[in-house]
Amino acid sequence: MRARRTAVLAGLAACAIALTACSSDSDDGGDGGSTAGSGGGDTITIGIKYDQPGLGFKDGDKYSGFDVDVATYVAKDLGYDADQIEWKEAPSAQRETLLSTGQVDMIFATYSITDERKKTVSFAGPYFVAGQDLLVAEDDSDITGPESLNGKNLCSVSGSTSAQRIKDELASKVNLLEQPGYAECVTALSSGQVDAVTTDDIILAGLAAQPGNQGKVKVVGNPFSTERYGVGIPKDSDQCEAINTSLKKMFDDGSWDTFIKDNTEGTGYTPNADENPPALDDCA
Ligand code: GLU
Repeated sequence: MRARRTAVLAGLAACAIALTACSSDSDDGGDGGSTAGSGGGDTITIGIKYDQPGLGFKDGDKYSGFDVDVATYVAKDLGYDADQIEWKEAPSAQRETLLSTGQVDMIFATYSITDERKKTVSFAGPYFVAGQDLLVAEDDSDITGPESLNGKNLCSVSGSTSAQRIKDELASKVNLLEQPGYAECVTALSSGQVDAVTTDDIILAGLAAQPGNQGKVKVVGNPFSTERYGVGIPKDSDQCEAINTSLKKMFDDGSWDTFIKDNTEGTGYTPNADENPPALDDCA
């Protein structure tokens, strides 16, 4: 993969500059250096969210969530055991850069497939379809959907389709606060700084079910977009077919259902059954 070449080149450059002895495995070192290959001790670097409970979540050295489960399943089919995965945080605004600079090999991070993003990265999948929704205070009965947002203060995340849609469609009607992650947006909602948080329904459901948020916030439940989660890969990567083969197997062998059930349990969330599990796009 491209990431391996980058890491090897960086390693060689470092050796040349420092005039140190460089062993053949020195390409494993370095921040973000990944050595994806075909197994045999290599690792694969996968970008996920660290702050979206039920999707991609880091707790100490434990990683959990639907994206983590899907990524682990696909990595296995590509020849990497769970202990060969190096997780890396992939905030919404950094995903294209992480892929195009070779800092990650794949991204599973509630990453919607869009034509705009396809200018710089490629996608396998989709493996899930969500919809943009709103999170509001538990006692809020005013906000029922995008048409009831006039004059409201909203929070979303930089680099997300969620923030972009508000800018494209509601810019003159709402004030938008952009944060690096959705957890920060929920904090802004809890403190009254904003009236609503907007992003995909499954993300909002996971946040609303957090012990500290229960009983304080609720998901409106009126989705107004179609967010098709793809596996982000470097542009023109040759891995798309292999990833899609794995995703198809995951849908067929019941793993997808198990991953959804395990990770949405207790949130009250159910995926849109008309859209899920989704049909895979053709690889470009
Ligand atoms: N699925 C949307 C996106 O890819 C919103 C969620 C996110 O920011 O990860 O932008």
